[in-house]
Order: sequence, then structure tokens, then C-alpha cells
Amino acid sequence: GEVPAQETVDDASPDESRLQPLIQPWPLAGSIGKTDLGLILAGDGVYVKDALGRSLIDGPAGMWCVNVGHRHPSIADALRDQAMTLTYTSPWYTSNNPARELAQMLADRAPGDLKHVFLTTGGSSAVETALRLMQFYNNVRGRPQKKLIVSRQGAYHGSTYLSASLNGRPRDHDWMDGATELARKLTCPDPFRRPEGLSIDAFEDFLEDEFRTMIEKEGADRIGAFIAEPVQASGGVLIPTKAYLTRMQAVCREHDILFIADEVVTAFGRLGHIFASQAVFGVEPDMITFAKGVTSGYFPLGGVMVSARLFDELRRSNHPDAMFAHGLTYSSHPIGCAVAIRNIELLENGILDHARAIAPYFQERLKTLEDLALVGEVRGIGLMAGIECVADREHNNPLQIDIEVGKRIDRHCQDLGLLVRPLINMCVMSPPLVINKAQVDSVVEILRQGISKTMDDLRAEGLWAG
Ligand code: PLP
Repeated sequence: GEVPAQETVDDASPDESRLQPLIQPWPLAGSIGKTDLGLILAGDGVYVKDALGRSLIDGPAGMWCVNVGHRHPSIADALRDQAMTLTYTSPWYTSNNPARELAQMLADRAPGDLKHVFLTTGGSSAVETALRLMQFYNNVRGRPQKKLIVSRQGAYHGSTYLSASLNGRPRDHDWMDGATELARKLTCPDPFRRPEGLSIDAFEDFLEDEFRTMIEKEGADRIGAFIAEPVQASGGVLIPTKAYLTRMQAVCREHDILFIADEVVTAFGRLGHIFASQAVFGVEPDMITFAKGVTSGYFPLGGVMVSARLFDELRRSNHPDAMFAHGLTYSSHPIGCAVAIRNIELLENGILDHARAIAPYFQERLKTLEDLALVGEVRGIGLMAGIECVADREHNNPLQIDIEVGKRIDRHCQDLGLLVRPLINMCVMSPPLVINKAQVDSVVEILRQGISKTMDDLRAEGLWAG
């Protein structure tokens, strides 16, 4: 039978005993404590098992993170072995072998001169670290006014105060405060929803011009950083036009603005490489933030790769006593680092090759869903893809946000054996990288059925005339 992903209690005076102690992310005021999300009990490879006994393909790999798949014995061994050797040691007063080894591995694999890494607890703390480092860098260099951070509409960079201030998705800021005095936003580089009448080439010109105009208006001496996900992930898997990132980087270099690539989603195999900035997009950022896939989700860990040039400049500054007063108890966590090392070994021992080999099949097969009347576009790169539903395909008009078409598709797909990541009017796919062809076929077949059933429902409810 159908199991709602969200079970809400609607009575006006809620029975306290029925409220959930656990608050999930992004709750609505009216349903805090009342939402009971589907319970997942176990995972194995590309599958998870839920409390109803169903085996589901993990379409989003958790949150784009379980890259080597669930229940990998080798990662479990690394985790246990490290816990039994050294659980924890302070990153303030001591160092540890897994952190040193991981730092070297990352420095060897990062592009350009990104030879240093500051380790954090996840993506938000990685972005926060990068931004605070930019502030510190400009303070030490005697230009404390160079602090504005430029991001884009559609961006997602985290849930700490400063990182969240850079987010630009619908509803992100409706009820939340942010460091608006520090944040500036450019147009979302989404070719599918580009301004009407612009060709793809003209759109790219427009985006670069817009950045230049902003710099002129604000002053290059007031802009510290430009931060960009190479592929906007939570914004709907938005793949920029070909030269967009290199052009934006060139503008940054011209104006001494640090270019931060937020690779929390795109690194560690999602696009077939350890880091995607240079390998896929030809850019050499000043910093790269990462998290998620670095441990395949087996341990909360993230970090920032930093250009050696920045630290050179800091070392040679007039303020050798200036302190970067920033650190987390769990920076350089030995267990997290041991997990990351084993994870990278697994990725480089076949999983990256597999991801690169199967990606074209994954994209090709998903693309076939474009013949469904509700589907406006299927787009993707590597092992990430977005299926965007529209009200009418002639004009690609968006569906009403409150129809929650993504959730509707997810409910049907779960009944059929696939967990979907619903995103307003979109479904996002980013399966474990170890997915095989037969499993890709299942994903696509289930999506086809789930979307078709959703079209029937919407027609029956008079919500869609397609
Ligand atoms: N940056 C990007 C591009 C992300 O997709 C995310 C999370 O989805 C974050 C940062 C925040 O990471 P975390 O949730 O680990 O704090």
C-alpha cells in the first residue's frame, strides 16, 4: 500500500505524547515535532531497506554522499581499527597520523598549488572556514574592507550563518536572517531557465557582464570572494555553459577576488574524479571546499583545500603574530581521516573508473524520460542528474510550488523500489557510484512509472492539464 513520506497530525491542539522529539532539517513552523519521515533501517551497496521491509535503490545516495555504497566492509574495518588505535586527539595541541596522511593525499590530488588543507566536520563548516580565512587574509594584508562574498541565485552552501547567507534557492531566506551586508548574488547560471530571448552564448556573456558590472558598482577593493558550486546541486543539478566557470575565474583574477569552488557534491567521484574543478571544468580555484563523498558518508568530515600562495603571502605579511582564530574540536578527527583514506583508496582502485564508464549510460537512459509530458528537461553530468517537471512543455512554465510534484513522484517510486530526492518540482538522482547497468535500468523504469502515475493523479485532481 501507499505510505506517505510525511505523516502529519492535523488536530489544532496536538497531543504532546504524539510529538516527535527529533526535529528534521527544514521543518515548517506548523509541523515541527509532528513530522514523521520514512524510517530507513539498513543499507547494502546501492540499496537501503525501510521499516516496511522494502528494498529501495538509494537514488540520492543519502544526500549525494554514499559514494562507495552502503555497508562497505573495508570502510567499516578502517573505522573500527582506528577507533581501537586512537579515537581522538586534540588538533590544537597534538597531531595524528591519519590526518597527516590524508592531508598529503589530498595535496597530491588537488589541482594547481592547493597544497594545504584545513579539515572540518562537514560542508557548512568547510565553507565557513573558507570564508573566515578570506576575511583573515584580507585583514592581515591590510585591506579589511575587502569582505563582500559573491554567490549566485540557486546556490546552496550550508546552514551555518555565513554559509547560509550565500544560499539562493526559493524560500531559503523567507523567514531566516542572514549576513546580508556581506552577501551579494548574481544570476543563476541555469541555461534551461535563462532570460527569455537569450541564446546560450549570449547568456554566458550576460553572466560575465553582470559580474563585471557588480564589481564596478561595489568596487573590486570591497569584494573578497566569489563562491560557486561547479554544478549547482541542490539548486536542481544546474550545469553551467561551457566557458562560464573559466570566464568567471578570469574576472576574479583580474580583480584579486578569491575564487572558491564549493565541491561538497562534485568531488570524490560524483563527476568521475577526486576533484572536478580542473579535471572537468578547467579551473584552478584559490580554495576548494569538500565534504560528503570524502568519507562516503561513513563519518562527518569536510575540509578546505587552500592555495599555497595565500599562506605564502600571510607568512610574508607585516603581521606574523596575527592569529587565524578558527578551529573545531573535530578538525583532523583521526577516525574521519582514516575513513577518508580508505575511501580514497577504494575510489582509486576501480570505483572512479567505473563511475566514468557508466556515467554516459546513466545519462542516456535518464534522458529517455523526456518523452513524458510532465518532464521539461532531464539534465546531468557524471553520476548526478535532475529531472525537472513543468506545467507545460511549450513554454516550460513552472508547476505551482505547492503541488510538490517531486514528493508525489517520490511516493510512487518508493512503492516501486526507488528512493528519490524530491526537490520542489524536480527529482534529483545521484546514486552510489557502484551502481551497475541493470540497476540504472531499474531506476529509469521506476521513474517512468512513478512519473506516469503522478501525471494520472494530477489530472484526476485537476491540478495539471498536460
Ligand atoms: N555546499 C554544498 C554544495 C552542499 O551541497 C552542501 C550540502 O548539501 C553544503 C555545502 C553543506 O554541507 P553540510 O550539510 O555537510 O554542512
